[in-house]
Amino acid sequence: MEIQIIRATPEQMKPKPQDDSQLGFGKIFTDHMFTVNFKEGTGWHDARISPYRKLELDPTAMCLHYGQEIFEGLKAYRGQDGKIFLFRPIENIRRMNASAERLCMAQIDEALFLDALKKLVALEKDWIPKTKGASLYIRPTMIATEPALGVHPANEYLFFIIAGPVGAYYASGFSPTKIYVSEEYVRAAPGGTGAIKAAGNYAASLYASRIATQMGYTQVLWLDAQEKKYIEEVGTSNIFFFIGDELITPPLRGTILPGVMRRSILQLAAYLGIKVVERPLPIEEVISSIKSGQLKEAFASGTAAVVSPVGQIYYRKKEYVINGGKTGPLAEMLFNEILQLQYGFREDPFNWRVEVDA
Ligand SMILES: *Cc1c(COP(=O)(O)O)cnc(C)c1O
Repeated sequence: MEIQIIRATPEQMKPKPQDDSQLGFGKIFTDHMFTVNFKEGTGWHDARISPYRKLELDPTAMCLHYGQEIFEGLKAYRGQDGKIFLFRPIENIRRMNASAERLCMAQIDEALFLDALKKLVALEKDWIPKTKGASLYIRPTMIATEPALGVHPANEYLFFIIAGPVGAYYASGFSPTKIYVSEEYVRAAPGGTGAIKAAGNYAASLYASRIATQMGYTQVLWLDAQEKKYIEEVGTSNIFFFIGDELITPPLRGTILPGVMRRSILQLAAYLGIKVVERPLPIEEVISSIKSGQLKEAFASGTAAVVSPVGQIYYRKKEYVINGGKTGPLAEMLFNEILQLQYGFREDPFNWRVEVDA
């Protein structure tokens, strides 16, 4: 499908931020957006990049009532020699389609999706920050737009992609997080939607997050819903523990989001000769290995921060400090290696980088 491009007029264009250190996350968006509509019988139609605008929805649009809403998050990087790269976009494209399948939403053609990402990024190239660590965050989203209140999979959808510059996550160095183990609330149950990037998962996680924040913690450490025994994720990130000489992360069994960064860290660490293990990891084992000194590091992983070191865990009214509350060498090394890959400063044995011609 051809993507029609309607450029913003000079009056519609917004001032670009002058100071990359003030960008923050998710506050500024570029001048254009990609949209394509789906209707049962017609299929996807009217693919276009046009000026960023407000959406118009009928009050009965089904996404507003029954939650058919999924999204993705990836970044474009301005790297070596001013080249522009995406990092493993096909992973996000496939995950979006897996999310769509689980919520009975329409499948998007992979080639159209990739084309839309590249064309939008190319058109907005002047919005991509030049500071290393800063990037252009891209948010593909699909919503059910059919106006109807009967409960059924909608037969009309809107898929859109917006983008905005975001600052370096660690502009002033790593700051290890304090995480709170929730035994009262769960993020996902077997058979549920924990493995997809659905807006509803986020809504369901807010209450426990608020409790953690009120108690002075950065994030919730989620345990499995059935036994409250095994580690699952941290906030909206995957989690790794470096115990003995093994880098351990919980396996993907339907309740954990299959993070692109999780997968990248597993592959990269193995490539660098580190022993990686995907296995169920009981919270009690984490606590006992902190006590015995076997647990050297813990860090969360995700597109936003790459890695986010964990300095403290709160579990059953006790606080446990990891690595003296400081960032460990493994987290730091993986962080640096991934950034080198994303920005094109390191050879890419995995073919993860996708260059965007602009
Ligand atoms: C998006 C997300 C992640 C991280 O996925 P990446 O692809 O690595 O950014 C982890 N957990 C949850 C719940 C998420 O929504």
